[in-house]
Amino acid sequence: MERVQGPESRWAWVEVNLAALRRNTSAFRRLLGRGVEMMCVVKADAYGHGAVPCIKTMHAAGASQFAVATVREGVALREAGIEWPILILSEPPATCVQTLVEHDLMPAVYTSEFALALGEAAASAGRVARYHLAVDTGMTRIGVRRADAVELRRTIDFHRGLECAGTFTHFATADVPDDWDFALQLNRFRETVEALRGAGLDTGLVHCDNTPGTILHPECHFDMCRVGVGLYGLHPADTTHGCIDLEPVMSVRGRVVRVIYPNVGDGVGYGLTWRVPRRNIQVATVPIGYADGLARELSNQMDVLVGGVRCRQVGNICMDQFMFAVDVNGARSYRPTRPVEYGDVVTLIGADDDERITAEEMAGLRNTINYEVVCDFGMRLEKIYT
Ligand SMILES: *Cc1c(COP(=O)(O)O)cnc(C)c1O
Repeated sequence: MERVQGPESRWAWVEVNLAALRRNTSAFRRLLGRGVEMMCVVKADAYGHGAVPCIKTMHAAGASQFAVATVREGVALREAGIEWPILILSEPPATCVQTLVEHDLMPAVYTSEFALALGEAAASAGRVARYHLAVDTGMTRIGVRRADAVELRRTIDFHRGLECAGTFTHFATADVPDDWDFALQLNRFRETVEALRGAGLDTGLVHCDNTPGTILHPECHFDMCRVGVGLYGLHPADTTHGCIDLEPVMSVRGRVVRVIYPNVGDGVGYGLTWRVPRRNIQVATVPIGYADGLARELSNQMDVLVGGVRCRQVGNICMDQFMFAVDVNGARSYRPTRPVEYGDVVTLIGADDDERITAEEMAGLRNTINYEVVCDFGMRLEKIYT
C-alpha cells in the first residue's frame, strides 16, 4: 500500500478511497433494475467523506440524483457547481423558500402552509418549484399522515408555482428480515400512492428504500432508491452482510508527534486516568481529539494500529490529541516489533498490514452505529482523496 503522507500542516487526516466509493456505487447500481433511478444520500457532507468529490464519483458510476438534510448543504453543493437534482430530505422553515427556488433545490413537503409559500416564491420568480411529498407510514418522524395525503395535494395542487416531482416514505425497520412493521409501512405506502393516483394526482417518482431496503427488499424499489451508508462501504446492519460486497471508503490516520519512555507511575492526560505500570513502556501522542470526532468515551477503551500491530489508547482523549502506550517487550496486547518513532503513521480506522479497525468496532465501543462514527470524523480533519 502506498503510504499517504498526510497534510503538511497537521499530522491527522481522513483518507477517502474514491475507487472503493466507485465500486460500491456500481454494486448498488447493478442491484437496481433498468428504469430505477439511484439517488445518493450525501447529507452531513457525505457521511463525513466530503460531498463534492463523492458526488462526482457517484454520478460517474450511475447515480442520477442526490439528497441532503439541510438547505445549507444543498446551497453549498450548487455553489460548488453540482447541477444534478438535489432533494432536501425534510421540510425546511418557510422562511427559506426563496433560497430553494433560487438554487433549484427540491424540498420534502408535508404542510400546505410551506407548500403554498414555496409556490408563491416560485411563481413570483417566474418558475415552477419541484417538491417531493413526504408520507408518514409509521416511523412517526416527518411527512403528511397517510390519511391526509390526498387532501393535502388537493389543497395545494391548484398552484401554478408547484410541481410534485416525487412521493416518498421512510422505513423504520428496513434492516429487519420478515418484519411485520416493515410490511405494514410498505402496505400503507402502496395504498397511499394508489389513493393519490385514484384521485387523478401525479405522484412523480415513487421511492421508499434506503440502503437496507435497497439490499433486502427489491420488491419495493419502485422508481428510485435512496442509498446512503452502503455507498461508503458500511453495512447498515448485520443482516445485509453477505448480500452485497462493500469496501470501506474512509480511513482515519495520524502520525506520532511525540514519544517518550515515562517513569513508572507517571500518569497520562487530564485526570491522570492511566499510569505507567512497568519499565520500558512508551507513551506516544497523536494530534487527533474529540473535536475531530474521536469520542471521549473511547478513552482507555480503544486500540490503534502502528506497523500493523494493535496498541492500547491510554489516558483521557483530549480535544485535539490523544496518547497511546507501546510495550515493546510484548506484554499482552501491545506487541510492536520495534519502538515507535516520531512521525510513525497511526491508524484509528482502516487497515494497516494485516490488521484492520472498522467503524463497527469503534461504534461498538461507543454504543452507537457506524453511521455516527464516520459522520463525526468528517467534522474537522482534512480529507485526502486517493
Ligand atoms: C438518511 C436517509 C436515507 C439514507 O439512509 P441509509 O440507511 O444511510 O441508506 C434515506 N432516506 C432518508 C429519508 C434519510 O433520512
